[in-house]
Amino acid sequence: MFLVANWKMNMTRDRIETYLDALERERLSSMLSGTRHQIALAPTHVYLQDLSREVLRRGLPVKIFAQDVSSRSEGAFTGEVSVRNVLDVGAVGSILGHSERRRYFQETDADVARKTSLCLQAGAIPLVCFGESREERDAGETLRVLRHQVAPIVEVVTKAFRENENIPVYLAYEPVWAIGSGKNASCSDIEEVISTVLEGFSWPVPPCILYGGSVNLENISSLAALENLAGLLVGSAWLDPETFLDSVRALS
Ligand code: PEP
Repeated sequence: MFLVANWKMNMTRDRIETYLDALERERLSSMLSGTRHQIALAPTHVYLQDLSREVLRRGLPVKIFAQDVSSRSEGAFTGEVSVRNVLDVGAVGSILGHSERRRYFQETDADVARKTSLCLQAGAIPLVCFGESREERDAGETLRVLRHQVAPIVEVVTKAFRENENIPVYLAYEPVWAIGSGKNASCSDIEEVISTVLEGFSWPVPPCILYGGSVNLENISSLAALENLAGLLVGSAWLDPETFLDSVRALS
């Protein structure tokens, strides 16, 4: 499984150091040996470089992801951070289109598709989030909304695939109502979404699909057992390194 901790805007240098100390002390590498799990940590941009260096120095089997990148490739865009910038300081990919960005910063499906395209062109791994709101689910609109969010991604992936057949494509199904709410989507809902996304489009390369939304120590094993699920994207629970390590143990 691909296990991604989205730290959002919660961490500081001290907390990151404590986190890495815990991963080192508990020998994350040995915990992972014999499993096919891969770990990624996603700090805010300002910590990307230090975190990449520290992970390397400590020999931790951890990839670094950004939480977002600009929809512009480079140039006079004050305050923006490009894909090239994050790759330059050790990230290998970026979360894109998180519902908090769509909701609080008015990101559109077109913005997310453009960011995905820039990642694929630059050799960064896009981890594209999609998911319905509570109102959309209650109105029976879930699959329609999700198809609408995913369709532009299929388009840019198809284009990028023509130039490079080895592009990595990761999606994360994150129902908006499940994020930080303590209520996760049911296994059957997640399975329905995964098969809709995999079978409802003609992907040039099948995407790896993660789930995110109130994953915790109680539900992680049943979620991880889902056949077509490639990983988990976790916010609140994995701000705590001990819970993160317990989660990895639960999956080993
Ligand atoms: C997230 O915001 O990506 C997320 C999955 O958050 P949480 O685990 O807190 O629901």
